[in-house]
Amino acid sequence: MNQELVMYILISVLGGSISIFLCGYGLVKIKDAPGGRYYVLATFMCAIFAFGYAFELASTSLEQMKIWLRVEYLALPFIPVFILLMCFDYVGKKLKQWAYILLFGIPILTITLHYTNDFHHIYYTSMDVRTDTPFPILKLEGGPGFYIHSIFLYVCIVISVGILLMQFRKVTHKFRLQTSLMIAGLLVPVMGSVFYITETSPSSIDLGPVSMSITFILHGFALLSFQMFNVVPIARETVFESIEEGVIVLNQHDVIVDYNSAIVAVLPSFGSHAIGKAVRDILNDHPLLLDIIFEKQEGDYQLKIGDVTNYFYIKFSPVKTKQSTLIGKIITLVNVTERVNMEKKLKELASIDGLTKIYNRTYFLDKAGDMIKNLSVSGDSLSIVMFDIDHFKKVNDQYGHDAGDQVLISVAGLTKKYLRNQDLFARYGGEEFIICMPDTTGLEAYEMIDHLRKKVSGSFIVSSNDKVQITSSYGISTVLLNSENGNPTIQELMRQADQALYAAKRNGRNCVQMYEKKAQYVYV
Ligand code: GH3
Ligand code: MG
Ligand code: MG
Repeated sequence: MNQELVMYILISVLGGSISIFLCGYGLVKIKDAPGGRYYVLATFMCAIFAFGYAFELASTSLEQMKIWLRVEYLALPFIPVFILLMCFDYVGKKLKQWAYILLFGIPILTITLHYTNDFHHIYYTSMDVRTDTPFPILKLEGGPGFYIHSIFLYVCIVISVGILLMQFRKVTHKFRLQTSLMIAGLLVPVMGSVFYITETSPSSIDLGPVSMSITFILHGFALLSFQMFNVVPIARETVFESIEEGVIVLNQHDVIVDYNSAIVAVLPSFGSHAIGKAVRDILNDHPLLLDIIFEKQEGDYQLKIGDVTNYFYIKFSPVKTKQSTLIGKIITLVNVTERVNMEKKLKELASIDGLTKIYNRTYFLDKAGDMIKNLSVSGDSLSIVMFDIDHFKKVNDQYGHDAGDQVLISVAGLTKKYLRNQDLFARYGGEEFIICMPDTTGLEAYEMIDHLRKKVSGSFIVSSNDKVQITSSYGISTVLLNSENGNPTIQELMRQADQALYAAKRNGRNCVQMYEKKAQYVYV
């Protein structure tokens, strides 16, 4: 066999082998990346074309050559279509349905015309074997069908190059080399076929299939070295990993499909083997979180990480296909600890009296109401104490308003220190204070409060070198809580304590007075 022919056959086989390798590589590595599926299809079609051409070159009769040419034409018309679709998909552009019909309609028409050419000669006006060349080769005279197909092929390539050039302008410097390689790869077979059409190629060899091996070496190089198609998924992965919020992706059966490393920091049970497992199994230590996930109710979730309590807002986003079929959900854990702590602080601030830093009346009424409710079950007794500083007006008048304030701060501080943890103490208003003492009988309350009274009367503040000393009067009401007979409200108990306080004032001040009037409740 002619050496030159052997070389062309070998180059075609090499081109076909490279295409097959890239097709296999693409199938394993980049099928799901943008443009990946069409890359696989284009390389597959190129392999058929190149091997077909190798057999065509090796053929010695016109009939053999025509058979292999038909094999080539099963693949050739689709190559520019898949390259075009690959470029569109790669840059993330969608095509309209009519464009698909056109893109596949023309190749099908081409194949039909090619296969039936013997009847109408629209595709080739003549098909002969050249005898003036060192080896037999097909001599084809193109008809209108051939030229329509050629124009279609070039239009597809021009549009593909145009799309890549537009992308080239948009991408950062780093990714320009791979786009350049893609463009160069597309131009090589174009130049080859120009030589063929203008009949300037050596021995009238179609350089298209030969040059395609160069194309796919360039594309393969771009693919292997620069991860051409993998940029987008890698970028997605980078974004996914750099999100500060923990993210979990579940499929429609609540199986974990993906999650980022931020979630592992929050929920260590995710570890490294959570993918493919049911979320129920991975989060079985967090039943409340599972409830939130299954009921899909967005809200705050409290989670202890080490010794610190964190709060996460659980957010849901549906995952849908292009056809809007729900196929899963994304769960995002947004750390809202700062916001929750701030809210708590604000709530606390709203419940604290600005001057004395003890609770205010609103907070007291709220909490004391709860205390009565909680205690009514256990049948305990509860005492309410109201107290008022004696002749406080005189303190203000004699030592000034600031000294009066200092007295209020001092009395509040002393009382708070004296009371037990379970006692609830608040400033009722002006120089009046209130205490709720759970689990305390009247006698116990009396003894404690009388002791406090003595402490207060023994204390003093210093204002402008003057020793300011005050006394205070106390009224106590007590109830044995009983769920059967019903219980008095906190307001009723306060009214009674206030009456007792009034009595203490009438009795000469600086004393403790119990509320005594018998009513429908049992007082002890
Ligand atoms: P009594 O022994 O009957 O309780 O006599 P009192 O003077 O203490 O009673 P009264 O209710 O007539 O006066 C309370 C005074 O407390 C009037 C008001 O100016 C003063 N006062 C109320 N709130 C404050 C405060 O926040 N700071 C100061 N310095 N004085 C206050
Ligand atoms: Mg007073
Ligand atoms: Mg008063």
